[in-house]
Amino acid sequence: MAPITKHYDYLVIGGGSGGLASARRAASRFGVKAAIIEGSGRLGGTCVNVGCVPKKVMWAASDIRKKLEDASNYGMDVGELPKFDWTNFVAKREAYIHRLNGIYERNLVKDGVDYISGWARFSGEPGEKVVEVSLLDGGTAYYTADHILVAVGGYASVPDTIPGAQYGVTSDGFFALTEQPKSVAIVGAGYIAVELAGVFNGLGTETHLFIRYEKFLRQFDPIISDNITATYEKHGVHLHKKSKSFEKVTKLPSGKLLITYEDANGKSEIEVDTLIWAIGRGPNTAGLKVDIPGLKLDKKGYIEVDEFQNTNIPGVYSLGDVIGWAELTPVAIAAGRKLAHRLFGGPEFKDLKLDYTNIPTVVFSHPEAGTVGLTEPEARKKYGDDEIKVYNSKFIGMYYAVFDEQDKKEYTIYKLICAGKEEKVVGLHIVGDASSEILQGFGVAIKMGATKADFDSCVAIHPTSAEELVTLV
Ligand SMILES: Cc1cc2nc3c(=O)[nH]c(=O)nc-3n(C[C@H](O)[C@H](O)[C@H](O)COP(=O)(O)OP(=O)(O)OC[C@H]3O[C@@H](n4cnc5c(N)ncnc54)[C@H](O)[C@@H]3O)c2cc1C
Repeated sequence: MAPITKHYDYLVIGGGSGGLASARRAASRFGVKAAIIEGSGRLGGTCVNVGCVPKKVMWAASDIRKKLEDASNYGMDVGELPKFDWTNFVAKREAYIHRLNGIYERNLVKDGVDYISGWARFSGEPGEKVVEVSLLDGGTAYYTADHILVAVGGYASVPDTIPGAQYGVTSDGFFALTEQPKSVAIVGAGYIAVELAGVFNGLGTETHLFIRYEKFLRQFDPIISDNITATYEKHGVHLHKKSKSFEKVTKLPSGKLLITYEDANGKSEIEVDTLIWAIGRGPNTAGLKVDIPGLKLDKKGYIEVDEFQNTNIPGVYSLGDVIGWAELTPVAIAAGRKLAHRLFGGPEFKDLKLDYTNIPTVVFSHPEAGTVGLTEPEARKKYGDDEIKVYNSKFIGMYYAVFDEQDKKEYTIYKLICAGKEEKVVGLHIVGDASSEILQGFGVAIKMGATKADFDSCVAIHPTSAEELVTLV
């Protein structure tokens, strides 16, 4: 093997949310000699480049279009809806992301973290912890470190049994679309499928969503899956329920895709401009040669860690999407920072770890939905029916009070799940405008162990929708 290029205190593989947060915290707070290895040529990982950030920007665009549709109810005649200029808007969005990439790079330098641009894998003899990097600007370098963090994230899956599946793209391909498709087929029932369908439909693309069951977002509380599914149908998303695996996808001479499918209505065919697979994600472990140090993976290939993010190999840690726990940006960031404190912060942080319970999360659907804690079925299973009290509220928010178009009014739906005599809040699920902003503060209260009485003791803010959450009976 070639000589080792450099030895670090802390070597982080993956310049996404988790890796960046951990390396920066280690270097800036504790003066650790740290480096980040990133293979894509741009920092920020999935969230910044092909995830949360561009997604939220697209969501905002479709939300504005909805508001324009609503405007006549507020006495504003906007005439014919303006055409959405997808091409220019996407260029603008990407310029913003490019700026973010630059900010991330400058922050790394400011914090004294070395940025190694290239693809990493383990190398050397079995049992060794050498990291080999194919540098993007040519050549190969070898690194060792006292501590190595593997934070390489995940990838979007494409089915390998459907002829023509390769004509479809994943969420990565969605962000690469420089023209708005007239029609799209999205396959999947998780939050990414639902969010992309909401964006397309809101912006005027004919949207077909293929789901295996009657509803999507089935891992969420029923108020979320029931109501968002019903609202999407009302908004004109073509829901293909009980959809079986596609028979085939054919590329037509026109460039369109012909999908042969079977759903609740039987066998059929549909022509679309774009097909998007949003059927799940897997861990990015394939090229890492994890067998060299002997890293243990689970059946699906996720890196196995304990609650302190330790892998089975001393001095090697992992977190973020590649461990498959709660695949969210703030989770990766929080785990990364905590790990940096635990490894380098001295005795006072030696037991620091991320508590993975009660993580608030939202779906940027139309309308938005938010959730923290247990769903009602989960709470009933955990505590038993007799120990659970559920508070519900369903109402039309004041925003819709002046709407002349009755069918455009949307419900806001809240559910608070309490357990035991003290009525500790163990779950909160909300559907309605601004859910993403509303949930964060309530997440703090629930994390602190709030009871129903604590909720009630907070004076309402009026007039809001969220005030319903502190006046539930
Ligand atoms: C469409 C979409 C929307 C999302 N929306 C949200 C949202 O609204 N809110 C939210 O909280 N989360 C959202 N997520 C999830 C979020 O993006 C991830 O949970 C988060 O990015 C995980 O961070 P990470 O550090 O584990 O991995 P990543 O951010 O994926 O970073 C991993 C990095 O490692 C690099 N890498 C991989 N292998 C190697 C290698 N061998 N050598 C060098 N570098 C390597 C990759 O290039 C990548 O930059 C979304 C995800 C998607 C796909």
